[in-house]
Amino acid sequence: MPAPVVTTIYEAPKNPAHQPVLDRLRERQALEKASEFYRLFRLPRPLTLKAKGCDGEIDAWFENDEITICYEYVAYVLDIARNPKRPDWVSENDALVGPVIDLFLHEGGHAIFDYLKVPVLGNEEDAADFVASYVELNLYKADAYGLIAGIVYCYLNEAGVHSFKRLRRMRGGPVDGQTFADVHSTPLQRVYNVLCLAYGYDPVRYKALIDKGVLPAERASGCKVEYEQVDYAFKTLLVPHLDQAALARLFPQVNSAAPK
Ligand SMILES: [Zn+2]
Repeated sequence: MPAPVVTTIYEAPKNPAHQPVLDRLRERQALEKASEFYRLFRLPRPLTLKAKGCDGEIDAWFENDEITICYEYVAYVLDIARNPKRPDWVSENDALVGPVIDLFLHEGGHAIFDYLKVPVLGNEEDAADFVASYVELNLYKADAYGLIAGIVYCYLNEAGVHSFKRLRRMRGGPVDGQTFADVHSTPLQRVYNVLCLAYGYDPVRYKALIDKGVLPAERASGCKVEYEQVDYAFKTLLVPHLDQAALARLFPQVNSAAPK
């Protein structure tokens, strides 16, 4: 089978204010790094990763064999990362890099499901989140703690909470019912999902983050089983599509156990 073709494109920003965002992405080779994940798979057709201006829309998506990330989204995340009130458990760099990597991996989840015709039982948005978290924990091991702190901080901001301290103090209050109609889980559910998966993966390493986030004991007690379920699904559904060299390098422990 020919090598998969993954192309990266940085479009010129329409809004001059996004030039520094483009420079930052280029300098960190964000698209090239994100494309490494997709190159692990034996993809049946070419895939394009694109960064572009979206006329003010803060968004990212996978459509027509392209993963697009808007400069507006990166600018938004950069703004949150630079907030002087950012708590000390997350660094500026992690607050920027975590959500950007997570977004690429989340959209990558959608792309992989589509390209490889992977069956998804349940909400595809949650499944794409779990692919992203699983890959961060297993493939970006050394940086995963910081990345996850950055992702959690971004979701807290999206929920208007900003810090664990405020999250702990939240009790009831008015809720816009239509929030729950969204195809994505709510930002705070996504906080607890990623914390639970991290805790299930390594309860010692992620304990400090769990304590800060006050993952309730009744959820925490089941996180190991939740992680094992995601691990089983990943190994059963996705690992068989990995390039053999990538498999040996990244998942040596599952090389022989991977279903054929
Ligand atoms: Zn999605």
